Formats: sequence, C-alpha cells, structure tokens
Amino acid sequence: MNEKQIRDRVLAIRETIARAAERSGRSGSDVFVLPITKGHPPSVLEAVSRAGCEAIGENRVGEAETKLADVGRLGVRWHMIGHLQRNKAGRAIRAFDVIESVDSVRLARRLQLEAEKADRAEVPIMVQVNAGGEQQKSGLEPAELVDAVGSMLDFGRLRVLGLMTMAPFTVEEGVLRRTFSTARECLARCRAELPGFDGRTLSMGMSNDFEIAVEEGSTEVRLGTVLLGERPEV
Ligand SMILES: *Cc1c(COP(=O)(O)O)cnc(C)c1O
Repeated sequence: MNEKQIRDRVLAIRETIARAAERSGRSGSDVFVLPITKGHPPSVLEAVSRAGCEAIGENRVGEAETKLADVGRLGVRWHMIGHLQRNKAGRAIRAFDVIESVDSVRLARRLQLEAEKADRAEVPIMVQVNAGGEQQKSGLEPAELVDAVGSMLDFGRLRVLGLMTMAPFTVEEGVLRRTFSTARECLARCRAELPGFDGRTLSMGMSNDFEIAVEEGSTEVRLGTVLLGERPEV
C-alpha cells in the first residue's frame, strides 16, 4: 500500500462511516479512524503518516519499539491496543502516547508509577471492557467497571479518555450489536455514577464490524485489514 492508495481507502471508509453515523443520528466527524499497523513493516507506517493520518495503533510493545528505532515517531500518536503485561508498563509508557488496553486496576497502578518515574505528567488511557462476555477475552467485566474506573480516577498521572472493547469474532449481527451497546451503556454508567469523570471515547469496531460499531455509538474505529490490506507479518 502506498500513500495514495491509503488516502483513497481512508476516503472510502470515511463515506461508509458517515452513512453509519447518520443512521444513529450522528455525524461521520464524530468518529476517529485509527489505522492499525501491527504486522506491517515500517514503510507502511511512513505511508500512513504521509497520507495524513494522525495516529497509528500497534499491539505489541517490542514491535512498536523496533519500528520506533527504525522510523521514529513520524509525527503521529502511537496507540497501544494489545494486551499489556504489568512488567512492560514502563516500556509501554515510553513507546506509546495512548494506552487503550488497560484491563485492570493493577495495571493502571503500575502505569501511574511508571509515569511518575518517566516524569510524564499525563498518560491518556482507555479502559478495556469485556462487553461480549467471552471467557478468554481480556478486559474488565461490565459489573466491575464503574468501581475500577473510579479507582483509576485517583491515579493523577492517568487521564481516562473512555472505554475500549473488542467484539467476539463472529458474523452474527445480533451478538456484535449487543456487545457494542453494552460498551456504550458501560460508558454512560461511568459518566452518571462517577463525578469528575467525563470520558467520551468509545474505541470499538474493527474491519469486519465497524459499521455496526458506529451505528451503536463508536467514536473510534481501529482498522487494519480494510485499510491496509492483509498483514504480511514482519
Ligand atoms: C488487529 C486489531 C485490530 C484491527 O484488526 P482488523 O480486523 O485487521 O481491522 C483492531 N483492534 C485490535 C485490538 C487488534 O488487535
């Protein structure tokens, strides 16, 4: 994929998003497109940044570090979207601008400590919720979310932007819709029950389900395959 092809795909995807957003009484400009560059070589990250994208998403700390050493920050925001082990929190703080996959209070506490050590005044995070109720998926359970987010609000170096979720891998529209609406309700509940919390971001929707996610209130879709083609695996 070169810069021109990426630009064209972004435009086409934006059209699809705009139509989906209108179906839910919103505007396409309410939805941010995060290109997911995991598994692609650094040249693709360069093309994505030249195509005018403001951010990229990676799911592994080590892979992000390798790419950073190769091409630098490229003037884009780096989002961590994969499962993060506590022992990599410090490296994640250095490599990434935003951590979307905070799935426990223990991890948040560690990020707070590492932010202090790294002298980073503010680390924007999202809290991952297991809205699909799958056994193996990481993320906090909806029932424990309000308490967990409440605890995270006490970590002064972290700014909770909102929630992130991954739907089950399925083509069943009902399952996808239910997952995304659960995440939306979780965010609404946090806003209602936690004074001082004003997170608005709902990061949900991938290549196979982003239209449904946008209809259900997504404000950020994380797109790999549909935007950049199949991953060659670097
Ligand atoms: C890989 C990945 C994506 C993008 O997946 P595609 O299906 O290629 O769009 C989005 N979110 C997360 C958390 C991922 O790991």
